Amino acid sequence: MIIDGKQAAADLRVALAIEVKKLKESKGITPSLTVILVGKDPASQVYVRNKAKQTIEVGMISNEIRLPDTTSQEELLNQLSVLNNDNSVHGILVQLPLPKHIDESVVIAAINPEKDVDGFHAMNSGRLLNGEDGALVPCTPQGCIILAKQHLGDDLSGKHAVVIGRSNIVGKPVALLLLQENCTVTIAHSRTKNLAQVCQQADILVAAVGRAEFVKADWVKKGATVIDVGINRIENTETGKAKLVGDVDFTAVNDVCGAITPVPGGVGPMTIACLLKNTLEAARRQSANL
Ligand code: NAD
Repeated sequence: MIIDGKQAAADLRVALAIEVKKLKESKGITPSLTVILVGKDPASQVYVRNKAKQTIEVGMISNEIRLPDTTSQEELLNQLSVLNNDNSVHGILVQLPLPKHIDESVVIAAINPEKDVDGFHAMNSGRLLNGEDGALVPCTPQGCIILAKQHLGDDLSGKHAVVIGRSNIVGKPVALLLLQENCTVTIAHSRTKNLAQVCQQADILVAAVGRAEFVKADWVKKGATVIDVGINRIENTETGKAKLVGDVDFTAVNDVCGAITPVPGGVGPMTIACLLKNTLEAARRQSANL
């Protein structure tokens, strides 16, 4: 079975649009997201455009701040300070990667955690680690769990989940979310020995590696649920044009597994939908006392 992330994301946006309308009617508040883009990275420009379009589609306010790649770290921090103190801004996202002269960790730490809709601030990752309420959870990992549940239902308890990758953006938070769902979780990474045998244990296999078609069919247990986070651009040998593939050898693995997310059309569309979900959540919390 192929898990349709495009459809799941569209369904989530419909549900969010209803909730946005309710918040407007009950409190007169329209959730608003401000995205800061520094420089002209082509992939980032596409992401930012898509984010803005979908933010508006669900009835939220979208603001974009585009800064030249000569922007200093101090200027960016000053800009963040203005947004942190602006009550009409509920969500702030700084598009990564930033130009090399700017320290991403300093910038992330400067975002008000209540507005940190990417969920990368240490306050939010700490809350997630502790299982506390109120964490804004990184978007791609949230999308992975929603898609796994599409196939397996809401109860993931007791399943063995293997996550390949330990980044702060995907691998670690998705592992923590799977733990919260009562899975038995193994985190595999670049130094893991016998990776194929580790992956063969998985009822749920999450690949977040960044290597095209890395996970092979004989690594996958029959009937497993495979969530492919990877986005890799390779050359299509037939047409000579670029095409996107995941971290999983899709065609071969699809014959073995129980369900798999495709690339494109799997985890990718869920990331923006979950960003909108976080923006709504942030707006709700910030207006709770109004
Ligand atoms: P990253 O480079 O920060 O982390 C990659 C991880 O893979 C590392 O933790 C590393 O230990 C592990 N790894 C590398 N080589 C390995 C090997 N040979 N064996 C086992 N593990 C190995 O990448 P990331 O930011 O976590 O992203 C991973 C992939 O997911 C990339 O392709 C990225 O483009 C994609 N991504 C997609 C979305 C989305 O919206 N779908 C969002 C974020 C990232």
